[in-house]
Amino acid sequence: MSRLHPQRSGSGRAQRVTTLRAHLDAARRPVVFTGAGVSTESGIPDFRSPGGLWTRYRPIPFDEFLSSEEARRETWRRKFALDAAIGTVEPNAGHHAIARLVARSDGTVVTQNIDGLHAAAGVPPERLVELHGNGTYAACLDCGQREELVEVRARFEDDSPAPRCLACGGLLKPATISFGQPMPAAAMRRAEAAAISCDLFLVAGSSLQVYPAAGFPQLAQRRGARLVIVNREPTPLDDLADLVLHAEIGSALAAAVG
Ligand code: NAD
Ligand code: ZN
Repeated sequence: MSRLHPQRSGSGRAQRVTTLRAHLDAARRPVVFTGAGVSTESGIPDFRSPGGLWTRYRPIPFDEFLSSEEARRETWRRKFALDAAIGTVEPNAGHHAIARLVARSDGTVVTQNIDGLHAAAGVPPERLVELHGNGTYAACLDCGQREELVEVRARFEDDSPAPRCLACGGLLKPATISFGQPMPAAAMRRAEAAAISCDLFLVAGSSLQVYPAAGFPQLAQRRGARLVIVNREPTPLDDLADLVLHAEIGSALAAAVG
């Protein structure tokens, strides 16, 4: 398998996009693995951006959410404040290119993002694995019942009790995975199966520093897949990859997918 690494090969940006395009055209079962970087062009900051949207508060671990009414109320106060700060978001050129790639091949999107933008770009549920859940709705921790955020918001005020499930009275939580909360078993199994059986593993917009998710590229490569990384900054797996593009995702993927 040919290796084309920007630092080692010195090849130009246009040549690397052409090579990426050839890899994507040849792929029969691609996996696109995305992180926060695929959504920055939609106006959602990633972890590293200035402003520190995500670092302003100490994260509330899952066991605190379970044990403390105040932690639950604080979770909901922050959730609504963060959603208001970010505002309405739409999929960008990167999400749309990924959706086209998946639609024309037997592909799967595995995402660490919780913003729902791959689904909004048209990736169907059976081709989408959301490893860290989805922040666009709430779910009951006891019965799994889904509730829409507008409805939860309508009955929650800053000084009122934390919202409870309308069906069973259980604890209602944004449908995302908190620190200390077990990774969703079904999503992990699906991501692993996709990584094992893919022929191309494309990382887009992830710093590849969060495990267990960051183990998937290495698993895919051990099982014979080509590994391609498109990210603005270097990642710890760049040296393993068959092709690395340090580029903006929207323009690079729009050019490579066509
Ligand atoms: P990260 O913030 O650690 O890394 C994002 C990477 O994307 C960085 O290396 C950055 O250089 C790169 N990047 C940013 N914008 C880019 C662009 N336009 N083009 C190319 N590269 C770009 O994010 P991560 O690896 O996803 O891990 C952080 C965790 O944060 C994840 O678990 C995720 O659940 C969560 N998170 C999610 C969202 C979201 O849902 N949109 C936003 C922030 C954090
Ligand atoms: Zn319930």
